[in-house]
Amino acid sequence: PGTLYIVATPIGNLEDITFRAVRILKEVDLIAAEDTRHTRKLLTHFGISKPLTSYFDHNKHLKGDVILARLRDGASVALVSDAGTPCIADPGYQLVRDAIAEGIVVVPIPGASAAVAALSAAGLPTDSFTFIGFLPSRRGKRHQQLSPLKDEPRVLIFYEAPNRLMATLKDMRDLWGERKIVVARELTKVYEEFVRGDTSAVIAQFTDRQIKGEVVILVAPGEDSEQEGASEESLDEVLRRYLYV
Ligand code: SAM
Repeated sequence: PGTLYIVATPIGNLEDITFRAVRILKEVDLIAAEDTRHTRKLLTHFGISKPLTSYFDHNKHLKGDVILARLRDGASVALVSDAGTPCIADPGYQLVRDAIAEGIVVVPIPGASAAVAALSAAGLPTDSFTFIGFLPSRRGKRHQQLSPLKDEPRVLIFYEAPNRLMATLKDMRDLWGERKIVVARELTKVYEEFVRGDTSAVIAQFTDRQIKGEVVILVAPGEDSEQEGASEESLDEVLRRYLYV
């Protein structure tokens, strides 16, 4: 069988593609793309001309079978999404899972991902973090998912649509109170911007302003959950001292 390459592409700045990604895209027999028109522009920019097929959320079952059949026949296939790393809040997971089940080799070609780019420059703790991705668009469901995250001891990373940014920040303030928040907007693009501050301050900064472009929201853990972590540790230490020493 052929090989399935999971190829990361830029999240804005076209320079953010790796030499290896360009080479793999030039070498494969077929490129499966979320939006073929979008990807064709990228390929044209890098002088790549390859057969393209679509693989997106609504045709993933049918198209997945077609792509698997090509792989079985020995074709090498690259999966790309519109931006960043495929499978990260983007289609691809089922294809990867099914390819692995058939013994097809799956090779990641790493590169940009908005979550990691945002975290790397946010100025929030980076030792461990929780990637949530997109919240449900319906308010009730959103609250249901946000509520239990109140006590999450790690930095939370969300993807959000610009027109929902304010509503989500307000939901976060209602459910969790003030937190240290970073909104990373338009990463790697001309209007790249980091807005940092307590929830209310960040909301104030975006008030009366048309919010455009793409955003990542990062949220530091509440002080209570940090303290919880600390007290668990010391309890552990105490137990160790009394039970094992
Ligand atoms: N697979 C992509 C990745 O690896 O980051 C994510 C795709 S997801 C459909 C799109 C979301 O990613 C956007 O709504 C936004 O939250 C985030 N995103 C993508 N590009 C971004 C950028 N340049 N700046 C800020 N956020 C971005």
